[in-house]
Amino acid sequence: MAQDEDIEANLEAVRRRIGAACAEAGRSADEVTLVAVSKLQPAERIEAALRAGQRCFGENYVQEAAGRWPALRERFDGIELHMIGPLQSNKAGQAVALFDVVQSLDRPRLARALAKEMDKQGRRPRLLIQVNTGEEPQKSGVKPQEADAFVDLCRRELGLDIEGLMAIPPAGDEPALHAALLAKIAARNGLGQVSIGMSDDYPIAIRFGATIVRVGSAIFGARPAR
Ligand SMILES: *Cc1c(COP(=O)(O)O)cnc(C)c1O
Repeated sequence: MAQDEDIEANLEAVRRRIGAACAEAGRSADEVTLVAVSKLQPAERIEAALRAGQRCFGENYVQEAAGRWPALRERFDGIELHMIGPLQSNKAGQAVALFDVVQSLDRPRLARALAKEMDKQGRRPRLLIQVNTGEEPQKSGVKPQEADAFVDLCRRELGLDIEGLMAIPPAGDEPALHAALLAKIAARNGLGQVSIGMSDDYPIAIRFGATIVRVGSAIFGARPAR
């Protein structure tokens, strides 16, 4: 699995399915960004993806990402790093320094911490707000009915430029419903990016409005346990 050719073939297959889903939905394939989710994956698999031309990656843990991406950025041009895991407010500074996109903005305290760090560092990662579309108690994200108010708070009170929304649907639920709901909340708030869809459901998510899909195991193979 760690072979370069396997990862290259997986990436090609995923890109082909993205293209097919876009065609079916009457959308252009360049409307959809593929984020390769590399959390917990061995370094050689990530390097294989980079050698195969992938440049957009997603990580869940600040510590792990900080341990490997600064060195990889020196070796490969054009890397775009997305934070997709729960983010503690006290790691906002590290996150602003490290990531190009934070997709997991999910509460006022974190929004304030990020805004402060952005001013301090003069670096402004793009931001997506995470919505808990399944309203699962164990999952991060604002509730769907609180999303508009939170977008508003980020924009008006904190001057943050919000690009879109992100969600992780409950396992076993119909992903199309969650993609459609997320796309609807994004549209009514004038937000262009809809991040939803993982290895098992990204083609469906695209048909229902995803503009960013986050695919891990279908590219890199199974993750080693944490
Ligand atoms: C791990 C993870 C993914 C990728 O999951 P796969 O099933 O391996 O594609 C996508 N999004 C988030 C938020 C994740 O934590």
